[in-house]
Amino acid sequence: MNLIKKLSNREKKYFSSYILGKFYCDEFKNLQKQILLKQNEIYQFQAVPLVVGTFVEQIDSKRALVNSSNGSNYLVHILSTLEKEKLKPNLSIALHRNSNSIVGIFQDDSDFKINILAPMEKPEVKYSEIGGLELQKEEIREAIEFPLINKNFYEKIGIDLPKGVMLFGPPGTGKTLVVKAVALKTKASFIKTAGSEFVQKYLGEGPKMVRDLFKIARKNSPSIVFIDEIDAIATRRFDAQTGADREVQRILMELLNQMDGFEENKNVRVIMATNRIDTLDPALLRPGRIDRKIGFPLPNRREKRFIFQTLTSNMNLGTDVDLEEFVRKPHKLSGAVISAISQEAGLQAIRRNRFVIMQRDFEIAYGLNVISDEI
Ligand code: ATP
Repeated sequence: MNLIKKLSNREKKYFSSYILGKFYCDEFKNLQKQILLKQNEIYQFQAVPLVVGTFVEQIDSKRALVNSSNGSNYLVHILSTLEKEKLKPNLSIALHRNSNSIVGIFQDDSDFKINILAPMEKPEVKYSEIGGLELQKEEIREAIEFPLINKNFYEKIGIDLPKGVMLFGPPGTGKTLVVKAVALKTKASFIKTAGSEFVQKYLGEGPKMVRDLFKIARKNSPSIVFIDEIDAIATRRFDAQTGADREVQRILMELLNQMDGFEENKNVRVIMATNRIDTLDPALLRPGRIDRKIGFPLPNRREKRFIFQTLTSNMNLGTDVDLEEFVRKPHKLSGAVISAISQEAGLQAIRRNRFVIMQRDFEIAYGLNVISDEI
């Protein structure tokens, strides 16, 4: 102290700025160390496999209520570096495996199980490659394709745009094939999923997937949502006995809710397909949700002829081939069986080292497929 007193004013000034500078320098080093420590902490938090959960509610600036994917609700800490204003109810979040703390936010609140097909990923099926089914093609065009292309036309006439169509019929009658052709023809985004995909291990996941599906569809509109095998979730409601039954009913209710709710975005079309329309819940089938029900029966003789012709149009057939002989046979054949017969006939020719498919090959193929089909 005595030494400081002896200093001149100028020297005292220099001395105090030196002390201040050293203080700031030390403070800076300290903060840098803390940043490194925090970065290390964040890295450690994020390095372990994370659990996917859903954000429920923020309690205060540090804690929140979350729903873990095992179905339980937890009160947990939020990692201090997260942007808390981004946390919203029902948002998908990453939880620490042990502490269940929120350590990450998924950019998009969409489920990763639902994929939207890019234009080049769309199935390569043209209307011309589908034999027969003229009425069905026309109906699906009117209900799905035209509203997407000529939206204004419907508005001018003053009628509501059809929301969805239900395709029903026995297996292998060309339902999926027609949907693929529609997807290729329109420029709309195409989302394909199956009813069974919504039935998940944990409660609440299925209804969330339905919400996400429609959210993605709206975001990428105009879009076509195709739900195959809808009977997995849309069977007639009854007094649910088990938790699993109740969950399936909740999925259906969410589906009905979403189909009613996308009024604000009229450019989402829904196509559903089933083999068992008789088991479906009437609430789903009522006009306003499903406007068109398009039946795909087993082909009659005329349709069988068209399918045989279409499927063999690119094949190297011998002059003796008379497809009419198979068309006339009384068996009830689906398009899938006719396709299998044609493929098998080709294989028979290859087996005999021939480049030309003969009538005999078709006869063997018919016998193999129709017999196995009847079994
Ligand atoms: P599922 O109800 O079992 O899903 P589906 O009705 O959707 O059956 P598709 O997948 O459309 O049946 O058809 C199966 C296969 O049958 C097709 O890949 C195609 O090869 C053939 N097929 C069915 N109908 C026709 C048709 N009308 N023209 C050409 N091929 C057809």
